[in-house]
Amino acid sequence: MAEFTMELNDEQREVRDWIHGFAADVMRPAAAEWDEREETPWPVIQEAAKIGLYSLDFYAQQFFDPTGLGIPMTMEELFWGDAGIALSIVGTGLAAVGVLANGTEEQIGTWVPQMYGDADDVKVAAFCSSEPDAGSDVASMRTRAVYDEAKDEWVLNGTKTWATNGGIAHVHVVVAVVDPELGSKGHASFIVPPHTPGLSQGQKFKKHGIRASHTAEVVLEDVRVPGHCLLGGKEKLDERLARARERAQGGERVRNAAMATFEASRPAVGAMAVGTARAAYEEALEYARTREQFGRPIIDNQGVAFQLADMRTRIDAARLLVWRASWMAATGKKFEHAEGSMSKLFASETAKEVTAQAIQILGGNGFTREYPVERMHRDAAIYTIFEGTSEIQRLVIARALAGMPIR
Ligand SMILES: Cc1cc2nc3c(=O)[nH]c(=O)nc-3n(C[C@H](O)[C@H](O)[C@H](O)COP(=O)(O)OP(=O)(O)OC[C@H]3O[C@@H](n4cnc5c(N)ncnc54)[C@H](O)[C@@H]3O)c2cc1C
Repeated sequence: MAEFTMELNDEQREVRDWIHGFAADVMRPAAAEWDEREETPWPVIQEAAKIGLYSLDFYAQQFFDPTGLGIPMTMEELFWGDAGIALSIVGTGLAAVGVLANGTEEQIGTWVPQMYGDADDVKVAAFCSSEPDAGSDVASMRTRAVYDEAKDEWVLNGTKTWATNGGIAHVHVVVAVVDPELGSKGHASFIVPPHTPGLSQGQKFKKHGIRASHTAEVVLEDVRVPGHCLLGGKEKLDERLARARERAQGGERVRNAAMATFEASRPAVGAMAVGTARAAYEEALEYARTREQFGRPIIDNQGVAFQLADMRTRIDAARLLVWRASWMAATGKKFEHAEGSMSKLFASETAKEVTAQAIQILGGNGFTREYPVERMHRDAAIYTIFEGTSEIQRLVIARALAGMPIR
């Protein structure tokens, strides 16, 4: 039985400091440039790949850290460096998790390494679920996958949107409807291998923040993928659909298994938000100590010092919620009160608020692109939107508290 501790062990501290070094020395100095260019920072991803920070091995190691703190610690440091560049580095992980969660061992072994490529030829991957008319309401998804039995192929048609790395990815993971009668229970995930005809990039979005991360529509027109690209395989899908049909006929409501996955993955987004919030807080603290007005550092005014006290307290509280949920996921605890959603809700709202306070503390300088807090504030706005908006997190928490099924 592991003893309760809130201290990172020696190995974790070593890894954290190593990531921090990369974030401080490579990511932070490049952040403003890639934000302005609004392009994927391939050279930075390559640097990360060279030292093993962009690799399947590294993320697998963190993912299987028995304390659960490997991933949140990694996310916090990378997003402390820069959120846009960090998302370009960890975006592939979203697609990898899609395969890990639903794929067979053979599928995992075949596709996940291809998603990362290698240090001499880095690749990225995309996870495509959201659609123009299916954002928070995933069940209204329209992209269809139809099985062509004669050829043992699946044919995909539809338009995905907001896909991180969409269109520039080597491997796309696409969620599609296989049985429209079953709502979200009638969805399945597919691998679209590199260079498959019919998959193209639609519009690339010009964004408010995390601008170094590529976000685009993905258009699927008669995209044919071999039968073995259905994640989990046909037999498992047929069994799952048969069970869902039986339950639907019996009027039984099926608990959505995907929700448990979300509870386990949302703390990682919370950790990203903690990283951005901490970066802005540190900038504000340093500025408040050195900027003098009325003959003394502005931190000597209680009005400024109290703001910093609140910022720091909220960040630490957010990290504790993230660590609790990550530990629960790693140790197989049930998220009875939607603790994963709680951590994401609180950390993302904290990042928005703390980065706004940082701008205020830096005064006119905070409002310019000469200082990083302006960018951090724009970046922070994403955390309350993706992986479920703050309203959806509240909905999930409220349902859990009320004892209602989480949908
Ligand atoms: C930069 C970026 C990257 C992304 N990356 C990916 C990706 O890689 N893959 C992917 O599949 N998706 C991705 N997304 C999509 C993201 O997950 C969705 O934007 C998000 O789920 C919200 O959906 P929506 O934008 O359609 O908003 P909507 O669902 O239309 O929501 C609009 C507003 O209505 C509110 N609302 C909706 N329903 C309710 C309700 N029942 N109660 C109260 N309020 C409600 C929402 O909270 C929100 O404030 C990304 C998005 C962005 C912006």
